[in-house]
Amino acid sequence: MLIHEVLVVGGGLAGLMAALVASQKADVAVLSKIYPTRSHSGAAQGGFNAALGEDDSVEAHIFDTVKGSDYLGDQDAIEVLCSEGPEVILELERMGVPWTRTPEGRVAQRSLGGAGFPRACFAADFSGHVVLHTLFEQVLRRGIKIYPEWHLVELLVEDGQVAGVLAYDLARARLEVIRSKAVILATGGYGRAFAKTTNAHANTGDGMAIAYRAGAVLSDMEFVQFHPTTLYGTNILISEAARGEGGYLRNYDGERFMVHYAPQKMELAPRDVVSRAIFKEIKEGRGFEGQYVHLDLTHLGEALVAERLPQVRDLAIRYAGVDPARAPMPIEPAQHYSMGGVRTDVWGMTSLTGLLAAGEVANVSVHGANRLGGNSLLETVVFGRRAGHRAAQLARQEPWPTLSAATITRAYESWSSLLAGRGQGVQEDSTFAIRQEMTNLMTNQVGVFRVGSELEDAVNRLAKLKERYQRLKAPGGMQPFNYALMDYLEVGYLLDLCEVIARGALRRTESRGAHYRLDYPQRDDQNWLCHTFVRRGEDGPEFSNGPVKITRYAPQERGY
Ligand SMILES: Cc1cc2nc3c(=O)[nH]c(=O)nc-3n(C[C@H](O)[C@H](O)[C@H](O)COP(=O)(O)OP(=O)(O)OC[C@H]3O[C@@H](n4cnc5c(N)ncnc54)[C@H](O)[C@@H]3O)c2cc1C
Repeated sequence: MLIHEVLVVGGGLAGLMAALVASQKADVAVLSKIYPTRSHSGAAQGGFNAALGEDDSVEAHIFDTVKGSDYLGDQDAIEVLCSEGPEVILELERMGVPWTRTPEGRVAQRSLGGAGFPRACFAADFSGHVVLHTLFEQVLRRGIKIYPEWHLVELLVEDGQVAGVLAYDLARARLEVIRSKAVILATGGYGRAFAKTTNAHANTGDGMAIAYRAGAVLSDMEFVQFHPTTLYGTNILISEAARGEGGYLRNYDGERFMVHYAPQKMELAPRDVVSRAIFKEIKEGRGFEGQYVHLDLTHLGEALVAERLPQVRDLAIRYAGVDPARAPMPIEPAQHYSMGGVRTDVWGMTSLTGLLAAGEVANVSVHGANRLGGNSLLETVVFGRRAGHRAAQLARQEPWPTLSAATITRAYESWSSLLAGRGQGVQEDSTFAIRQEMTNLMTNQVGVFRVGSELEDAVNRLAKLKERYQRLKAPGGMQPFNYALMDYLEVGYLLDLCEVIARGALRRTESRGAHYRLDYPQRDDQNWLCHTFVRRGEDGPEFSNGPVKITRYAPQERGY
């Protein structure tokens, strides 16, 4: 058995920030199923929002975020996010982040969707990459123990308190128990539940599903963000930075169609608004080949594209065969971000004692029904820092929780028999076949536009997929680097989450932010200005509603 006072699960921005802060006062280790610097955070291009500009203010950032969330974000949490933003950006700078600068030497900022001011701090279009590497250097410098390519498989809970984890070391093919006083989940989102997604293969929602199985409350899972501009076909993200730097969206007639949907903000309206507009254009016959529209940067000039958007340019050349400085890019919307997650307070505390969560796995909730570009990277560092702080406090003040031999033996035995290949296995079925049906179903029936009958059908079909999954035999057993075995586990996590997302979407009979019901096209504050909470019961998910924290801004109609 291994022992660490604080165990951080996840080596992305939220996890590394939490580990650094906690390590000032406690013994900390980071467990990560992929090497930390390969985390999805490293793919982020656009930037981190913070009200640093002379004309900008924390107040304006708060308001934009509340409005962007379609009034479902908790305003106390949004206040924390926006007020701690400027300080965290400077802290990152002191750690060595090479932010892009203005000619006067100040941190440069660009416009992203739904923001009243240029507010996103960036490093060209490698923003996530440079911050991830800077934090990783600091983690190495402090000598924080890392368990790379170790998968969390279960939270060990005794008397309602998390006392450690069971993890699987992929290289040695061994299960290990790690005891700790506080476990911080920083495992990111579940984008791979959808066939069309910008997310990395590793984004399979493990932490959310494992916390849910252990009894933690998830919230607002029906809210899934679709990013308007991904390369047609591969769904590789073309950052909002491309529109922030002045890119236009055009339909088949060459028209900047956003004028009909968001006449003021145009291309820089929030993502839910732009994604729906693109789908509508395509559906009404103004797309190309009935499939995509154009994102046009040709008027920006080659020098600006090369300086500010080098990665966008490289991706478009490599994956769409188009140089965006010279020709428009073919783009379509795809799943991008998990708004819902493990319910936490503003210090990362979940409904289970000893379990904290931060970053995309958590729902604190600062994004409500729709996240603004640049607010997620900010959330990882602001709330990662807070979770690290609180976990270290727990480590100092609290005694070691009980972890009995019986709990360990039960977890160990059930997992070793499962991983070694339980049951007969159905020969003609496979993890891959189930994953393919599940992800297509989610994209086609639980996507940008939703309707009751299709959601109901999705719920029934997901239940059947789950039954098929239960009959599968774990592939190949416990051998070093058995990725097929990990795929199998990940599809199991995703199936649990898909059930919760689809049922939550069916339940919410209104349209708000990213959740758009064709059969209930209006926002319904009377009945649905509330969070959705879900807990795992004996017979599947048990849903309830809870109040939204409204401090300063009463809900208004949301126009752009
Ligand atoms: C292409 C792309 C571009 C983006 N651009 C922006 C942007 O410009 N601005 C913005 O604000 N947001 C952006 N986002 C969103 C933002 O990048 C993410 O929400 C954020 O980086 C998530 O960070 P995280 O630390 O929560 O999780 P991740 O960075 O996803 O890290 C998750 C970690 O958890 C570990 N893990 C997962 N499961 C397990 C397990 N079972 N056991 C052990 N470890 C596990 C993984 O190894 C990984 O280290 C973008 C997202 C994408 C996909």
